Amino acid sequence: MNSNIRCGGVEESKNSSHLKSGNSFICSSASNKKDIFGNIASIETTGFVDGPGVRVIVFMQGCPLRCLYCHNPEDAFFDTTRYLMTPEEVVAKIVRYKNYFGKEGGVTFSGGEPLNQPEFLLEVLRLCKENKINTAIDTSGCAKNIFSNRKTKLLDEILRNVDLIILDIKATDFQDYKEITGQDIKYFERFLDTCQKMKKKLWLRHVVVPNINDNVESIKQLKEYISKIKYVKKVELLPYHDMAKEKYKKLGLTYRLSDTPNMNTKKCSELQKLLD
Ligand code: SF4
Repeated sequence: MNSNIRCGGVEESKNSSHLKSGNSFICSSASNKKDIFGNIASIETTGFVDGPGVRVIVFMQGCPLRCLYCHNPEDAFFDTTRYLMTPEEVVAKIVRYKNYFGKEGGVTFSGGEPLNQPEFLLEVLRLCKENKINTAIDTSGCAKNIFSNRKTKLLDEILRNVDLIILDIKATDFQDYKEITGQDIKYFERFLDTCQKMKKKLWLRHVVVPNINDNVESIKQLKEYISKIKYVKKVELLPYHDMAKEKYKKLGLTYRLSDTPNMNTKKCSELQKLLD
């Protein structure tokens, strides 16, 4: 994100101006619902870590969780309107980078929480499919908006139209989940259950935080939890860092992990071996 500049309402890489697309955007009338808008925080055109290959990352505004270690509080904690874009506008931008995706790349919808804007997410996924673009959602699985509003059919459709779910496992039990995210784990559990029923391919992620879960016992507990999940293609431990600390100060928010050191990456790699 540091090498990005604002351009046309969303962030694009500095290299974007010389990219030649040669790809035309396909949009059938069936998926052309003009009244649906996404609240987009930013768009990064060259992501390498949120899914396979080279990917465009669409960061969506707003999230129902309040994770202790959230490094995007400005996007996640506020439902402020950032860039309102139609699915067609977003996919027209993504299509411009199609030549760089290769066999594996594509687009990842991240956040914030992409499931927080389910109608938009479905339309944008449908359009990506129509344009033969590989899709992933990077999610906490907290589909509160969907389950509270009885939109389970919408969730089924979203899952039918997405290629990969990158799912963050915040914690494996009710109490820890509540302490880390401030939310009830039930929405995550229902989401995971739906993914399992629909045999969705999963990449699992887990943030390791010193003095919270950076110990062998916690990782073994995680391993036990993961062993019951099917269709898992990858499990990744992510080391906690405090780079967002200053953002919290600027936003007038309390950073609750101010006394917590950064996770030692070597120790995190050692813990990762327990899962491999
Ligand atoms: S789920 Fe992600 S975006 Fe939402 S609060 Fe947690 S870390 Fe932030």
